[in-house]
Amino acid sequence: MTNSRISGFYNMTLDERHAKLVDASSLKGTPLTPENLSPFNTGGLSPEAADHMIENVIGLYSLPLGIALNFQVNGRDVLIPMVIEEPSVVAGASFMAKLTRAGGGFTATTTDPLMIGQMQVVNVPNLHEAKLKLYEHKAELLADADSIDPLLKKFGGGARDLEVRLIESSPIGAFLVIHLIYDVRDAMGANAVNTACERLAPKVEAITGGKVHLRILSNLADRRIARARCTIPVKELAFGSGESETRPYSGEDVRDGIIAAYAFASADPYRAATHNKGIMNGVDAVVIATGNDWRAIEAGAHAYAARSGKYTSLSTWNKDADGNLVGTLEMPMAVGIVGGATKVHPAAQAAVKLMGVKTANELAEIIVSVVPV
Ligand code: NAD
Repeated sequence: MTNSRISGFYNMTLDERHAKLVDASSLKGTPLTPENLSPFNTGGLSPEAADHMIENVIGLYSLPLGIALNFQVNGRDVLIPMVIEEPSVVAGASFMAKLTRAGGGFTATTTDPLMIGQMQVVNVPNLHEAKLKLYEHKAELLADADSIDPLLKKFGGGARDLEVRLIESSPIGAFLVIHLIYDVRDAMGANAVNTACERLAPKVEAITGGKVHLRILSNLADRRIARARCTIPVKELAFGSGESETRPYSGEDVRDGIIAAYAFASADPYRAATHNKGIMNGVDAVVIATGNDWRAIEAGAHAYAARSGKYTSLSTWNKDADGNLVGTLEMPMAVGIVGGATKVHPAAQAAVKLMGVKTANELAEIIVSVVPV
């Protein structure tokens, strides 16, 4: 098993840290080799590879990659690569992980990796009739959507459900929206979902008598949720209590301070935006390290935080019956390990290997646990 507690990592040279990572992973089924870490020496991406990723490439742009230590997620120690330009985030995440470790680390779960594709159907002669007709043809539409990606199907993915919404009022009047629910397994899934929506459009037009305008993934991935919780024993929270300290804080003081700060974020969008930015410091850093689309994750996170109609905190902090601090985080987590930039970026692949994750859901469970203080 990997050991994510590496003492003195902070004071080592970069070479020594690489050697320690190899050591720390040595008891795993698939231990790391120095070569596995070599993409981190250069950033991993060649200008030639970059030229195939986006348009008008003239070069590369680097960011620091650090390792968050002390993490235990679902009973497994994990070394967490974080790409971020802001100081103190990696240290904050490692510190948080050390505190939670004393309470058993993070326990995380995910839903099935279900993404939503949207089709906007306009100029429909009879919206209510068209909605029901779409449900009458649901099995046929799902079968069509299911057939677009044989590889994804082979891995257990495919079309799962179809829902029809009536938008009664908009600047262009009423229209229908179809949600195609698609299981994308270990992919982020944008391409499969967009292709499936394209595929269904002619049939949807024939059924409804309308015109399919937009046909695209929704970034409010609220069917693909990752959840993590942790318990921090209240005694772990005491600090500044040494004899030389002039302002000691008891564990109860610190715990209640964290709960009061959360209460502020829960009640006030101005504070919630900053509170959630702190959460995204950890989340985005791992999302970027693994080559995932952080704009998609950001869009999903903030839309989810506002799902009640009022923007609020993505996390909660409370105390349990024993007075220990309990934190929870729940948010959409549309990340993949097989496609997009993860597939072509050597450092992203090295980051996935470093974490030892084998599925997108495992990656999502780790990401939602990386919350700095
Ligand atoms: P992709 O198309 O490169 O790879 C996914 C494909 O890999 C699947 O469709 C499947 O054919 C194959 N595959 C192989 N093994 C698999 C497995 N175990 N599980 C699932 N699929 C497997 O990647 P993608 O995830 O569709 O696209 C991600 C990219 O799309 C990101 O780079 C993102 O930036 C971009 N994108 C995002 C949006 C958006 O967020 N709104 C829109 C368009 C594109």
